[in-house]
Amino acid sequence: MSSSESDVLVDSFARRHTYLRVSLTERCNLRCTYCMPAEGVPLQPRENLLTFEEIERLVRLFVAAGVDKVRLTGGEPLVRKDVEHLVDRLGAISGLRTLAMTTNGLLLRKKIDRLVSGGLNHLNISLDTLRPDRFESVTRRKGLDIVLDAIDLAVTRGLAPLKINCVVMRGVNSDELLDFVSLARNRALEVRFIEYMPFSGNGWSDDELVPFEEMLDQIKARHPDIAAIDDDLSPGETSREYRIPGFSGSVGFITSMTKHFCGSCNRLRITADGNLKVCLFGNSEVSLRDQMRAGASDEQLSKLIGLAVGRKKASHAGMHVIAASDNRPMILIGG
Ligand code: SAM
Ligand code: SF4
Repeated sequence: MSSSESDVLVDSFARRHTYLRVSLTERCNLRCTYCMPAEGVPLQPRENLLTFEEIERLVRLFVAAGVDKVRLTGGEPLVRKDVEHLVDRLGAISGLRTLAMTTNGLLLRKKIDRLVSGGLNHLNISLDTLRPDRFESVTRRKGLDIVLDAIDLAVTRGLAPLKINCVVMRGVNSDELLDFVSLARNRALEVRFIEYMPFSGNGWSDDELVPFEEMLDQIKARHPDIAAIDDDLSPGETSREYRIPGFSGSVGFITSMTKHFCGSCNRLRITADGNLKVCLFGNSEVSLRDQMRAGASDEQLSKLIGLAVGRKKASHAGMHVIAASDNRPMILIGG
C-alpha cells in the first residue's frame, strides 16, 4: 500500500476500520465455561498458526491502510512463547498508536515489565468473580489471588485506565456487580460489565443474559448518583461508561446483545491461524495465512482484505440467530 491511508479498510456502509485484534494462540491456561466448550477444542498444529514474521507483516499492512490500534488476544496471549519479542516488533511500528492486550492476568507478573518496555500501552484483564470457589467453577482452574495481584500490579505500572472485563451471567455472578463496582472506588480502572454472548459450544441461553438496563438498575439502587459520561457511544467505542462521584475509576457496560453498536464498528480480527474475520458474530473468513504462504504480494493481500471488508454486513443478526448459527467458539476467535 503506498498511501498512509487508503479506502481498503472502508466498508460499503462507510465504516472505517482502524482497530485490529490479533489472536496469538488457541491455547489457554484457564477453561472459562462461557468461552470454551466443556469438551475442549481441537488444537491445530503449531505450523498452522501465524509466525511472528507473518503477524508483523500483516500488522504493518493494516497500519499502512489506516489501523492505529492493535489488540493482542487469544486464547491466552501470554501463553504464546516469546510474546514479548512480538510486542517489541509491533511496538516499533510507526503509526501504531495503541498496542493493547487482553489477558486473564495469570502470567502477567512475570512479563509485564518487558511488555511495557516493548511498547504495550493498554491492558484489559478479564475477571468474572471475586469469590475463590466461583473462580474455580467458572474458569475450571484456581488462581483468583494471582489475577487480583495482576490487577494492582497493572495499575502501578501506569497501564491506567486499566479495564477489567467481567462477563455477567445470571445465576453465576450476577449477584457480584456491586462488589465489582467497589474495585473502581480507589483504583484508576474501568470495570466493564459485558453482556453474555452466544458462541459455539458455550451453552448460552437468553435466561442467563443480564441486559445492560437491568445491571444499571441494580447498581443505581446502591449508587443513585451514577451518571453516564456521554449519552452516546463515540465512534468505535463499545463501552457505555458511567461515573460515580468520589470514585477514582469508572464503570462501563458492553451491550453487544441488547443495544448493539454495529453502526460504528471499526474492528477487524485475525484468528491465530491467520483468518481475517470482519465480524465477531459472522462466520465468513478469509485465510491471509494461505495467501502469504502461497507468495502473495502486499498489493495482492491488500486487495483480498479490501474485498472481505467490502462484504461486511450492516449489523449482526441478533442474539437468537447468532445462538443458532455456526461460528467458532470464542477461544478460537480471539475476543
Ligand atoms: N484469555 C484472555 C482473556 O480472557 O482476557 C483473552 C481472550 S478472551 C476470549 C477475550 C475476552 O472475551 C475476555 O474478556 C472474555 O471475558 C470475553 N469473552 C469470552 N467469551 C465470551 C462470551 N461468551 N460473552 C462475552 N464475552 C466473552
Ligand atoms: Fe481462556 Fe480468556 Fe477464554 Fe477464559 S476467556 S478460557 S481466559 S481465552
